[in-house]
Amino acid sequence: MPESSASSSDLLARRASVLAPTYRLFYEEPVHVVRAAGVWMYDAQGRRYLDAYNNVPVVGHCHPYVVEALTKQAAILNTHTRYLTDGPLELAERLLATVSPELTNVTFTCTGSEANDLAIRISKAATGGTGFIVTDFAYHGTTETIAGMSPATGIPLGPDVFTIAAPVGTADAARFGALVRECLDEMRARGVKPAGLLVDTLFSSDGVLTNPAGFLAPAVEAIQAAGGLFIADEVQPGFGRTGQGMWGFQRHGVVPDLITMGKPMGNGHPVAALVARREAIQEFASRVRYFNTFGGNTVACAVALAVLDVIEEEGLLANAYVVGAYLKAGLEKLQERYAAIKEVRGAGLFIGAQMDSRETTGRVVNGMRREGVLIGSAGRNVDTLKIRPPLTFSRNDADFLLAALERVLRQSA
Ligand code: PMP
Repeated sequence: MPESSASSSDLLARRASVLAPTYRLFYEEPVHVVRAAGVWMYDAQGRRYLDAYNNVPVVGHCHPYVVEALTKQAAILNTHTRYLTDGPLELAERLLATVSPELTNVTFTCTGSEANDLAIRISKAATGGTGFIVTDFAYHGTTETIAGMSPATGIPLGPDVFTIAAPVGTADAARFGALVRECLDEMRARGVKPAGLLVDTLFSSDGVLTNPAGFLAPAVEAIQAAGGLFIADEVQPGFGRTGQGMWGFQRHGVVPDLITMGKPMGNGHPVAALVARREAIQEFASRVRYFNTFGGNTVACAVALAVLDVIEEEGLLANAYVVGAYLKAGLEKLQERYAAIKEVRGAGLFIGAQMDSRETTGRVVNGMRREGVLIGSAGRNVDTLKIRPPLTFSRNDADFLLAALERVLRQSA
């Protein structure tokens, strides 16, 4: 019995008619999902798909503990940060306990884009500079300023935005600090004062660039020595994905000036934040009263606190580490047998498998969808399989994915 009366072709026609033409769907045959639980999503015919793509439902789709926290709080009080309430304080305290003591203040937003946009305003105020460095296929969000710092979108960069090559191989990673220094020289030569270096600490859209851990340290030193701030975009790497800490930057032994976080923070509900060193945010705060109506609302905070509880209680960092290593090892075994896989990169449950071409990547992503496993693609050349499941992913789930991938590679690579 179908769980939705609408057919995929009806929905496609209605989308084309009423949604803006800016929207895109995943897969040659889009999936019409009607419900989800844990690591499984279900289509209108009741077919299940293993979700190996979505980092947002970090503790699993519709986790009952998170749903209960949300519904309970929604029935009691939902208001903003201009009243005295516990939620934002408890959440700020819990978040600050996961970072170095230099980071002391939290600002809540609704999206990662807003958090990054705010980070840019704070960096400009703190440094008096306007120049920013991003990697050359980065994605950081949707506001005009941040879209102008997201070369992955293909739109022109904003004023005083400079790009450096993303560290695709080990040699690039070793040179990453030098690239930042060279870029800072170029910036100064053009009369632009540095304000910040903004990077996604797992370089997700650049193609999942993870190794060797520590390669970010010289880059952070370089920007801070030049008077700029280091902004760690943790919107994708954050909340335990690497299994080696709550945040991606922790693998690199660095302390950011600003951290932005979002996506997994509410397991699917809009809550995001910026965490700052006190001295970084002081100048901005002395001039601006920032108020974000929905940022840090009572329900959002209850949800985010529940997500933190589940991450802790279910030992999801350890799970990400162990299952991630198991999955990566499985992919490396497949790499020995299938020449189409060029390199397997990753940290915890964020894995990028670089393929021999964009075409193979497309065939594999669509082939996996037909096999009932949802993955995506990344990288400047769209040649990397992006595997980034909820952190509750088990060894059995990894086996299911690997078996499907082997069938698809046999057919299509
Ligand atoms: N930074 C990174 C690294 C992201 O991947 C994204 C979203 N894909 C954002 C920022 C923007 O977050 P949001 O979509 O919540 O605005």
